[in-house]
Amino acid sequence: MTNATPKSPQPLLVLLVDDNPIQLSLLRHLFQRHGHMTIEARNGAEGLIVLATEYPDVVVSDCVMPLLDGYQFCRLLKDDRATRHLPVLLLTAQGTGLARFWAKTCGADRFLVKGRDLDHVVEVASALAEQSSKPRTAHAVSRLAQENFGVDAIQRRLAQALEQRLVETALRDSIARLYTADHDTARLFRGFIEILQELVLPGALLVAYLGEDGVWCHGVHGASASEDDRRALEAAVAGPDLLNIPPECRWHPASDDDERRRSMRDPVLRVLPANTPGFPTIGVLAFLTERRAVEDFERLFEIAAEELGRLLSLEDSRLRLYHQAIRDSLTGLFNRKHILDMLGMELDQCGRFGQGLSIMLVDLDHFKAVNDRFGHAVGDQVLSVMAQRMVFGLRKVDQVGRIGGEEFLAYCPQTDLEGARALADRLREQVIVDPVPGLPVADRVTLSIGLATWQGPEDTAERLLSRADKALYRAKAEGRNRVVG
Ligand code: GH3
Ligand code: MG
Ligand code: MG
Repeated sequence: MTNATPKSPQPLLVLLVDDNPIQLSLLRHLFQRHGHMTIEARNGAEGLIVLATEYPDVVVSDCVMPLLDGYQFCRLLKDDRATRHLPVLLLTAQGTGLARFWAKTCGADRFLVKGRDLDHVVEVASALAEQSSKPRTAHAVSRLAQENFGVDAIQRRLAQALEQRLVETALRDSIARLYTADHDTARLFRGFIEILQELVLPGALLVAYLGEDGVWCHGVHGASASEDDRRALEAAVAGPDLLNIPPECRWHPASDDDERRRSMRDPVLRVLPANTPGFPTIGVLAFLTERRAVEDFERLFEIAAEELGRLLSLEDSRLRLYHQAIRDSLTGLFNRKHILDMLGMELDQCGRFGQGLSIMLVDLDHFKAVNDRFGHAVGDQVLSVMAQRMVFGLRKVDQVGRIGGEEFLAYCPQTDLEGARALADRLREQVIVDPVPGLPVADRVTLSIGLATWQGPEDTAERLLSRADKALYRAKAEGRNRVVG
């Protein structure tokens, strides 16, 4: 210690690492002038030896040094549970982008350029020490200290740290690559599961996603994950703050070679929310595997859940946009363009497989009067209710869309004219059973429906629509609330 007046309320113990004696004494002087204590090392390897017996609050290290440079030193510290929380401030003469990039990827907490930023070094180091969550009393022994710091041990640890980084990067990369221009949700899930399954088998792994259309859940299981195990996984993701809905998972058995037939010793069930920070949970990763695998691959599972969160929030935005693009915002039915596109595709299928199809053009009767009497807002509400009744009144295979103000188009695959007529009449009768919210209890909104049936490969969507339109016109002319075709 020198005769400096302490300016910091908490004197720190600072480990300075630099191969240049002049630089080292400059740093020592700076820190001691502010009342801090220093210990010193001339390169990363010496730094590691010092750390076996000393417990500094912060490390300030040069980057380019012989034996073990600052980046490698930092990577080893961050790779070891015993030293992970020790804040590292890297100093370098090179203010290049690449140096900065390396400083970040090796896990340094801060990076300063020697010539330019050295005035702030004490201030920054103190701030880092203050923020750090390092437990001040208990000090675990670093892994290298257990191996007596042989050059071999340092090299081995370094190789392991790099290998771990490489695996993590490869994992992130392969998950991110699943999101392609032509993916769909099911393929996204299958791809993700394929990437992770080797880590958990012979256990089980499931991925669930809460989308606009309900819960998606896919899983893979080894031969030793029983039906009960799978149900337990499903129940775990339905828990509070996760999906809050019990998913019905589609399970796929993993190809069961001999190794995977092993039964699991000491199985552990884990659930990781796949979150985008700040948003509600829409995805979950859950797995059942051996305790050893959970411990060995802990970081990889965390990364996978993080990447899954990113993937699912992208998927969620994509599906929302798609939904907006194909649906009518008032009624939630398919919009004009989409129902016509779907009809076109359906007619292609009819041509190929020789199946029949009928369409219905549906128009609300005297709807203008609803607007005139009760206002446009009530009119909107009535349209929306009538749309829901149409969806409800048709079959699952039938598709319906809003093609105009109060005009709707439905198509009924594999249905001839008589079938369509029966269906349309039933619909017409069903929609007037209950009162319409917003209208006087006795008032009903009736439907006029024009039908047309596909007449074979020579027929087109335009002709079909034109025939249905004529039929609808007749239904109106003949008194409304009726089916013509
Ligand atoms: P008809 O029985 O001959 O079909 O009589 P109508 O009054 O239903 O037919 P018309 O075509 O004269 O009027 C349709 C009305 O539907 C006119 C329009 O104001 C109303 N309309 C169209 N789109 C909407 C909408 O999105 N919201 C509301 N509230 N009204 C709409
Ligand atoms: Mg009308
Ligand atoms: Mg109309």
